[in-house]
Amino acid sequence: MIIDGKKTAAELRQELKKRVAELKSTHNAVPGLTVILVGEDPASKIYVKNKEKFAKEVGMNSEVIRYPADVEEKVVLNKINELNEDKKISGILVQLPLPKHIDKRKVIETILPGKDVDGFHPMNVGNLSSGYDSSIPCTPLGCSLLLKKAEKNLSGKHAVVIGRSNLNGKPMTQLLLKENCTVTVTHSKTKDLKAECLRADIIIAAVGIPKLVKGDWVKKGAIVIDVGINKTDSGIVGDVDFDQVLKVAKAVTPVPGGVGPMTIACLLSNTVECFKKLN
Ligand code: NAP
Repeated sequence: MIIDGKKTAAELRQELKKRVAELKSTHNAVPGLTVILVGEDPASKIYVKNKEKFAKEVGMNSEVIRYPADVEEKVVLNKINELNEDKKISGILVQLPLPKHIDKRKVIETILPGKDVDGFHPMNVGNLSSGYDSSIPCTPLGCSLLLKKAEKNLSGKHAVVIGRSNLNGKPMTQLLLKENCTVTVTHSKTKDLKAECLRADIIIAAVGIPKLVKGDWVKKGAIVIDVGINKTDSGIVGDVDFDQVLKVAKAVTPVPGGVGPMTIACLLSNTVECFKKLN
């Protein structure tokens, strides 16, 4: 089975469109997402453009605040404080990466946890790991929804997460624990990654190495979620050798068309959740 992220994301956006319309009739207001973009990073510009497009598609208010790469840190922090106070704004996202002179941690910690649609604020990270209600980082949230397409009950499954970043690997680990999986977290110092993968019912690959996970790394019937987005001479590829893995896995996500489209749909879902809590 190929898990179709494009279709799943479109279904989620359709559902969000209905929820936004309901909120409009009950609250006489719609969720508002503000994205802050600093500099001219080409990939960031594309992501932000898509975020704006899909936010509008589901009926949300959406605004992008753009700053030149040499903007002073305090200008960005002051703007975040202003947005924190603005009742029309339910979600604030600062597009990463930021230029070196801006302290990413300070920026993340200035966003009100209740408006932190990326789920990066330490309060949300702590709540997620404590099993409390929190904003969940969009990419791992999207991976969870795709996993559920392949297998409804994940309880007792052995999941191997490749990568331990704050963005992907760590929050993914928490989500899998919440589903009662037994989780092995692997990283660049893991001794025998292939052996670890061969024990897995579920593999989440979030590494950044093209086609790292081969067909003979995967147990027959496993589910494989590929988070990787790697630019190569032959185009964009994931962290999984899709053609090889498709032959042995029960289900696998393609790249492109797998996890990628889910990330923005989950961002919109987080914005709706923040609106509901703030109102
Ligand atoms: P990251 O911060 O660079 O983290 C990579 C992780 O992989 C690290 O924990 C690293 O281990 C581990 N690693 C590196 N080499 C390894 C190896 N040979 N074996 C096992 N583990 C290894 O990356 P990230 O931000 O999580 O992103 C991972 C990938 O996902 C990238 O391709 C990125 O473009 C993609 N991505 C996709 C989406 C989406 O929407 N689909 C969103 C975000 C990111 P150490 O901790 O030991 O260094």
